[in-house]
Amino acid sequence: MKTCAIVGINWGDEGKGRMVDLIAEEYDIIVRYQGGNNAGHTIVNEYGKFALNLLPSGIFRAEKLNVLGSGTVIDLKHLCMEMERLKSAGVKISPDNLMLSDRAMIVMPYHVALDGMEESRLSDKKYGSTKRGIAPVYGDKYMKKGLMLGELADMDYLKKHLEDVLEYKNLMVTGIYGEKPFSADDMLAYLEEYGKRLLPYIHDTGLVLRNAAREGKSILYEAQLGVLRDIDFGIYPFTSSSSPLAAYAPIGSGTPNIPLTRVIGIAKAYSTCVGEGPFVGEMEGIEAERLREAGGEYGAATGRPRRVAPLDLVATRYGATMQGATEIAFTKLDVLSYLDKIPVCTAYEVDGEITKDFPFPSKLARAKAIIEYRDGWGCDISHIRNFDELPEAARDYVLYVEKELGFRISFVSVGPGRDEIIVR
Ligand code: GDP
Repeated sequence: MKTCAIVGINWGDEGKGRMVDLIAEEYDIIVRYQGGNNAGHTIVNEYGKFALNLLPSGIFRAEKLNVLGSGTVIDLKHLCMEMERLKSAGVKISPDNLMLSDRAMIVMPYHVALDGMEESRLSDKKYGSTKRGIAPVYGDKYMKKGLMLGELADMDYLKKHLEDVLEYKNLMVTGIYGEKPFSADDMLAYLEEYGKRLLPYIHDTGLVLRNAAREGKSILYEAQLGVLRDIDFGIYPFTSSSSPLAAYAPIGSGTPNIPLTRVIGIAKAYSTCVGEGPFVGEMEGIEAERLREAGGEYGAATGRPRRVAPLDLVATRYGATMQGATEIAFTKLDVLSYLDKIPVCTAYEVDGEITKDFPFPSKLARAKAIIEYRDGWGCDISHIRNFDELPEAARDYVLYVEKELGFRISFVSVGPGRDEIIVR
């Protein structure tokens, strides 16, 4: 049984989308297993440049089945918009190549609104939510106040369920935030409108996947965000509300009986982070601006400028370990070509002690980065497709990182395009 997870080992935005776009060719089915439309994969291919918030990156290959798994949360309106945008660019999307899990949670308009209300209440203590309703909907899932996609096939059941849930939600909306309650009729009309459009795509996708695997089909699992945003092992509370770990992929896809055979961890040649929270070694001023510009580091879902820092070996080693990576794809090496000396964070100093182990979140704010410098190569490398043809300093940088991490680097990407990659 051939299975693979493509996962982030940093804070997200490592370039997972382009790796899935590349590797998808070798797999029959591509599954997204967690998260919602709060992050975006950027993909550049023959159809153009796209920021995919929800759709699996295999959607561009018409012969592949793409699945949004049970661990995801789906904003129905946003999904319909994303599907339309791709269709108008010529991408084929139909119930033959896209399926949505009946157990995925519906992100309701009140989740999005509550996200905004809570961020306003927090004012300067906010966590940096993307305000797409993700924390409220996952909160509801575990409070057992969520609505599942499969309920759209049973409107009488859904109407009653919605009324019960809304009674509770409106207590929060009015009592905690002093806002106007949501009307059950409006919410039902919303569900009917988008339900009608999406119903043909909704299935027991866990069953579909388990049957497909039994028939020898191969599955590629695609994550959103990275280890440091994992709800259990990330920089809590500055995390997402789901688990982007490879170990969660079989659960969030309804295939807990199918083992993973390959885990490609994606690490970027430098660090970026969107939103709030501790970020050890963060660069400031002109130095940061140059790196941000060179790497085009602006959020794919939100357009927010990303915070930047040198490659962090402490966080990246932790990330690769937590992902159980069988190999690493090292991305955006070309972005560092402008630097004479390349800074690398090799350890943290926390309360006077030097450590290479990733600390407990509360200690991160006072962790100082220990920086060492590697030689730069000072020339364009984006046309190179063979590892041996890279300038010596670029090869040395990759080999140094590989040795320090203790994980094999099997891909090095040197540009955003599908072919701008070195396979080792
Ligand atoms: P993801 O969420 O992990 O897929 O990452 P994003 O899509 O948010 O960020 C990756 C960004 O870097 C996108 O704009 C990609 O097109 C771009 N990108 C990916 N790999 C490379 C690379 O090797 N070099 C350059 N210059 N850009 C890259």
